[in-house]
Amino acid sequence: MTAREPSHLFYQSRLRRPLVDRAEGVYIWDVDGKRYLDGSSGAMVANIGHSNARVLETMRRQMEKATFAYRLHFENEPAERLAAKTASLMPEGIDRVFFVSGGSEAVESAIKLARQYAVATGQDSRWKVISRMPSYHGSTLGALAVTGYDPLTAPFLPMMREMPKIAAPRAYLDRDNLSPHERGLKYADLLRDKILEEGAETVLAFIMEPVGGASTGALVAPDSYYGRIREICDEFGILLIYDEVMTGAGRTGRFLAAEHWGITPDLIALSKGFAAGYAPLGAMVAHNRLVEPVLDAGGFQHGYTYAGNPLACAAGLAVLEEIEREDLCGNAERMGSALKERLELLMKRFPFIGDVRGKGLLLAFELVSDRETMTPLPAAQNAYLKLVDEAYSRGLIIYSRRTRGGREGDHFMVCPPLIVTREHLDEIVDKLTDSLAALA
Ligand code: PLP
Repeated sequence: MTAREPSHLFYQSRLRRPLVDRAEGVYIWDVDGKRYLDGSSGAMVANIGHSNARVLETMRRQMEKATFAYRLHFENEPAERLAAKTASLMPEGIDRVFFVSGGSEAVESAIKLARQYAVATGQDSRWKVISRMPSYHGSTLGALAVTGYDPLTAPFLPMMREMPKIAAPRAYLDRDNLSPHERGLKYADLLRDKILEEGAETVLAFIMEPVGGASTGALVAPDSYYGRIREICDEFGILLIYDEVMTGAGRTGRFLAAEHWGITPDLIALSKGFAAGYAPLGAMVAHNRLVEPVLDAGGFQHGYTYAGNPLACAAGLAVLEEIEREDLCGNAERMGSALKERLELLMKRFPFIGDVRGKGLLLAFELVSDRETMTPLPAAQNAYLKLVDEAYSRGLIIYSRRTRGGREGDHFMVCPPLIVTREHLDEIVDKLTDSLAALA
């Protein structure tokens, strides 16, 4: 946005954004002094808000002791304590924690542990990981192979083994007479069909985001979907991986989204809100029955240099304590339903908002050219960039994506930090209303 010298740095595109100066609570300031409300917590990361004094103090104390001690040379207390704390927040039996530096690594680790478990228990024929279209599970080649988002996967298809996909349950697009319960079962049964088509003895795992992230725009399945998926996995001895990279750490109003439906997955991937942007950190958490045979069979053939970094783990532990101390799961649930209602009201004024959805503070809306038919806006309109720019100019950050996998669509994530107050919600909705009016 601000004209600057050419940079040596590059990310995905030529897009340039303002230079950040500082951040505090739900706000970020650029170097020109302009203030932005972080309405998407970055990429749904900054769950406890920016520059939390208690977390910074914990990190400062840890920095003065040790910032790095290689895990094959030394154990460290922050990693031990964070593992114990994490295990205490998981469903019964999911209590073995493997640290990584981000979400892609957490997913990659879950897939590799699942495979090594199969090999260690004489199930070598199982290697396929079924996933959903659309979905996003990360950018490393293993995580990408289970990602259902064509523009990201297409260039790499010759280099990786693409995994079988089933349609994600986009029930809001269906125009049939099924009840939500029946719809949930219909979508879940796609997994059963796919397993039979592939041959159950070749299928290792099924991976899903319990509430979709940016790839689907906070897609929530009908309640019946979740239990039925667990039953199908059990029926065929297939491991269930919950990718809670975005949904975990309180974002949907519970520490894990799995808690909404009482599901116990076999493996869980965490990152983003887990250290809330204070350090690059993620975790793969597994049922003990998967870990023991792998360790007995010679060990997990996988790991990262920065795994269990003491500074990152100290930050993660302080973040989890903050979530608990401030009841941020409860606040996410309360503020989430208030914000969702406010977004739904916007549908009255703006007919091009086709749908508002999500859970807790993982919320999104989708723009369409016709709400009745849910016809997407023409791609050339670039609405997913334009609305974000309108919001930026008014000091509001939202996160958008044009889905290109299955069906195209412009989704906008409105996912502020879990510390938001009603006054912050007013500011978000006011700025969003003006931005939508400018787009109309
Ligand atoms: N899984 C999900 C559900 C995500 O939303 C993301 C990131 O957006 C990832 C995995 C990858 O995480 P990271 O970008 O930290 O590698």
